[in-house]
Amino acid sequence: MSADQTTATTTATTTDRPSGAQPPASPRRLLEKLSPVSGARLGEFPVAGEDEVRAAVARARAAFPGWRDTPLAVRAEALGRVKQVLAEQGEHYARKISEDTGKPTFEATMTEIGAVPVLLEYILRRAPVLLRRRKVSTPIILPGKSGFIEYFPRGVIGIISPWNFPFQLAVVPVLSALIGGNTVVLKQSEITPIVAGVVEDLFRRIGLPPGVVEIVHGDGSTGAALTRADVDMLFFTGSVATGRKVMAAAAQRPIPVELELGGKDAMIVCADANLERAAEAAVWGGLVNCGQACVSVERIFVVDVIHDRFVEKVREKVAQVTVGGPDEQADMGPLTSSAQLGIVERHVKSAVAAGAKVVFGGERLQRPGQFFAPTLLTGITPEMEIFREETFGPVLPVVRVRDEEEAVRLANASEFGLAGSVWTQDVARGLRLASRLECGQVCINDVIQSVGHPALPFGGVRSSGIGRYHGDEGILAFMNTRGIMVDRGKLNSEPLWYPYAGKVSHGFELLRGITTRSVGSLVKGFLGLRKKMTRQK
Ligand code: NAD
Repeated sequence: MSADQTTATTTATTTDRPSGAQPPASPRRLLEKLSPVSGARLGEFPVAGEDEVRAAVARARAAFPGWRDTPLAVRAEALGRVKQVLAEQGEHYARKISEDTGKPTFEATMTEIGAVPVLLEYILRRAPVLLRRRKVSTPIILPGKSGFIEYFPRGVIGIISPWNFPFQLAVVPVLSALIGGNTVVLKQSEITPIVAGVVEDLFRRIGLPPGVVEIVHGDGSTGAALTRADVDMLFFTGSVATGRKVMAAAAQRPIPVELELGGKDAMIVCADANLERAAEAAVWGGLVNCGQACVSVERIFVVDVIHDRFVEKVREKVAQVTVGGPDEQADMGPLTSSAQLGIVERHVKSAVAAGAKVVFGGERLQRPGQFFAPTLLTGITPEMEIFREETFGPVLPVVRVRDEEEAVRLANASEFGLAGSVWTQDVARGLRLASRLECGQVCINDVIQSVGHPALPFGGVRSSGIGRYHGDEGILAFMNTRGIMVDRGKLNSEPLWYPYAGKVSHGFELLRGITTRSVGSLVKGFLGLRKKMTRQK
């Protein structure tokens, strides 16, 4: 967190301590939170130290056997209460999210609060089917056996979440982990401490047994302490730089790690696209949440023949976007993090210095708070910083391309691979292009909304991350897999077991059966070995 947004102080206060926590041994550091809209002071929030993190992990570990052994239906019933709390508190929570992040309250309502029941519904419906023990087919080479797959929870999951969608990116991984019987220690972003309190309130209200969800508050030092603590898996959402540190910490144990990191998503606009819809989508997809979405449109590839018409449409629409705080009913709010404002300014300036043209916006707004104008840039080339690095701000960089081939090549010429979109009225062509994009999710004639499709796995390739959540993968991500083979146990020995004497020719017969799929050789080999077994008894 940058110095102008927070200041750290040290005091012996014990306020805001999560219920059940032990008093801290040493004075606590406090972080001051300032409003991204007005710069006003919104409060001071404590930073948990190593001891508090360890204690929280110990409580989660103590709670684990009880929660693991609670029937799935009972766990599901408890988690289902989230919907009821959101029905009662959702409006209040949405306003708190807006206060903390500066995002419009409609966005907080739909993309933060509203996303949770949709994804939870899927989790509750699919988990009983997915987590049931299932039989798998057994090959003829293993006569008399049957095979089963079952899942068991990993244990205590350390979840570390970011500030850009601070509510849903904390709550959804927690619910996904809990359904399978894991317990959780959650560390949310210090940039949005008010939402961290909202999430704590939600889990307190649903009334889970003590220790099932432990919440520790603090900054990167608290997150780092969690990565060193006695957890069984780390689930991290945030920047690539921190993701590397989390993975390095996980490697020390070693424990599984899932990383949901940044993106530089491509939007490919083909010549036959519905230009009106594509332009509307580019504006929303690049500016929603003030561009601070991991799946924001960050590079728009437009084929030459429609480039100028498309840019003109986008310019008209960007000009209509209203900017302001949550109380102003605006379309777009400020940047939540002041550090992010600096990155956006730097990217735009360096792009312009390298030859990009500002078609609209391009600078900070002259008003209090962390506001940057919705910005449209053309003439973007692959050498520019804004093409290569995540901007995470309200900027639409347009790249003119000869054709779709060049668009796909340039879209894939990135360190990132989170999501993307293809715009064409020929869906078959859209699917062909989508399959060539090296990323974890693609929309055809839509943008970002695939993240809200609860059955679709979400996650990145390359530096955008490791692992998937949402969909079936999102439930299984938090589970260990156990394979079980059953033999009825009637024979006293097995053909493969000792002694080996006199078995070689039967082994060769079997090998012929396995390699040539000859049932005759398999049967002959097995019978030979069985005879040998009986004679040796
Ligand atoms: P960040 O990496 O700065 O912080 C994320 C979290 O990590 C915070 O809670 C922070 O306190 C904690 N942290 C910081 N240092 C740590 C350390 N050494 N060890 C452990 N934890 C530590 O990221 P951010 O700025 O909060 O989030 C923005 C980034 O997250 C962007 O790059 C964005 O693209 C990415 N993101 C990805 C997804 C996704 O699902 N792929 C979703 C949202 C955001």
